Amino acid sequence: RQTKFLISAPDIAHLDQYLPGDVGVEIAFAGRSNAGKSSALNALTEQKNLARTSKTPGRTQLINVFALDDDRRLVDLPGYGFAQVPLAMKKKWQAALGEYLQKRSCLSGVVVLMDIRHPLKDLDMQMIEWAVMSEIPVLALLTKADKLAQSAKMKTVNDVRKKLADFGDWVQVESFSSLKGTGKPKVLGILNKWCNP
Ligand code: GDP
Repeated sequence: RQTKFLISAPDIAHLDQYLPGDVGVEIAFAGRSNAGKSSALNALTEQKNLARTSKTPGRTQLINVFALDDDRRLVDLPGYGFAQVPLAMKKKWQAALGEYLQKRSCLSGVVVLMDIRHPLKDLDMQMIEWAVMSEIPVLALLTKADKLAQSAKMKTVNDVRKKLADFGDWVQVESFSSLKGTGKPKVLGILNKWCNP
């Protein structure tokens, strides 16, 4: 609830120039555009407008960094997966993202948000693989869970858990609804553990 906006970086390639020193704890939020990332950040921090929702697709997005306190930060990475983004730009973005995941030693966890109706697209898998390769734990968060009936929700969570089982304890899978608040205590519990290693 005390989360406050700290800084914006213009793009991921320059993120390290804007971030404070590589100390304390950082948790990154990533996901395809429209996955529900802004809504989840707002719901988890109990703030209406911390992360803006419904941005224009394709527009260059700032990377916003929020401070939980003096030592702990949340990093809102730009949504990925816009078809109209040129390939060269995608490659640049991927390289910079890979670098951030590999080099940032305070990065203690990555939340990969996916619409529960369309989980584990190629870029989501890539993001999860990169994080685990860099030995960063992942929370695969299946958003908009209120869009599915309970049985379909459970089935999807189980299917996704099975598909990610090879990653072992590095990856946890939970469902979440910003709208209804379901899954929030579990997610906060996981983030809390990452924040207090
Ligand atoms: P972002 O692009 O990943 O930041 O996604 P947003 O948070 O802006 O959400 C994209 C769209 O999904 C918006 O229209 C939101 O209202 C909707 N949305 C986000 N979270 C939920 C949720 O938990 N339930 C439902 N039903 N809709 C949601």
